Amino acid sequence: TEHVNALRKQHNITVLGKDVPAPITTFDELNKPDYKLLPRLQENLLSRGFPQPTPIQMQALPILLKNRALMACAPTGSGKTLAFLTPIINGLRIHKTSGLRALVLAPTRELAQQIYRECMELTKSTGLRTHFISKVSEARQQYGPECKQKYDILISTPNRVRFLLQQQPPLLDLKCVEWFVLDEADRLMEEGQNNFKEQLDDIYAACTNPQNRVAFFSATYTVPVAKWALRHLKNLVRVTIGVQNS
Ligand code: ADP
Ligand code: ADP
Ligand code: MG
Repeated sequence: TEHVNALRKQHNITVLGKDVPAPITTFDELNKPDYKLLPRLQENLLSRGFPQPTPIQMQALPILLKNRALMACAPTGSGKTLAFLTPIINGLRIHKTSGLRALVLAPTRELAQQIYRECMELTKSTGLRTHFISKVSEARQQYGPECKQKYDILISTPNRVRFLLQQQPPLLDLKCVEWFVLDEADRLMEEGQNNFKEQLDDIYAACTNPQNRVAFFSATYTVPVAKWALRHLKNLVRVTIGVQNS
């Protein structure tokens, strides 16, 4: 633990929570039996060509691969996308027809699209299928009763997801969701004109699977996110990279 503390200090990693897994220092360490990393995912990670994990990846990957709830804060450009997509892909492993098993929400279409692109890279040859809602009007074809079992991972802004949930009958079924990730959670939880907060509560309520794992990522630590996470998530781990600004 002395060593773990020194490692965290060296990389400016602060953690809060019980039994927080130690950070990794190389992507190779993910091949330890503890993490059961999919060989195909390992190849896809390697082919991204990153020499070593960034601090948020060092700490968030072990936490999420061990299925813990996470609130993570790390600067813009520090590789948060890979930190949540890798555990999702590893957890889902293979394509299933049971319905959506992962939901990633971001505050803008552009951000959702960037996550989608990264996800397409990391899921190469895994068989996992990812969808990005580009038009709610096309959702009837995409998710209608006959093909709602097509995708494993859904990436979207919240308003589209809520709209689809509110249709009669609902055009989206989230009861199999095992991974619920908010990217730029500080923006999603901010009170204001978008009123994402209310939409998130509705969407979260539709994720009824008790096995659902939740992770929040953002650039800054904000009180609304911490409050929501502490209220809803058991056994939460909080990670901050760099200066603490709460
Ligand atoms: P954030 O969401 O924290 O703002 P991104 O996930 O968008 O950051 O990543 C920023 C850039 O860093 C992307 O171009 C991404 O491909 C790259 N990147 C991700 N992980 C690493 C890494 N371990 N080493 C170097 N670059 C990385
Ligand atoms: P976004 O605003 O995320 O870019 P869209 O433009 O596809 O997504 O849809 C935005 C919102 O417009 C939806 O969340 C929904 O509330 C509303 N909307 C879209 N299509 C319809 C429709 N056919 N009937 C009523 N409302 C709609
Ligand atoms: Mg990001």
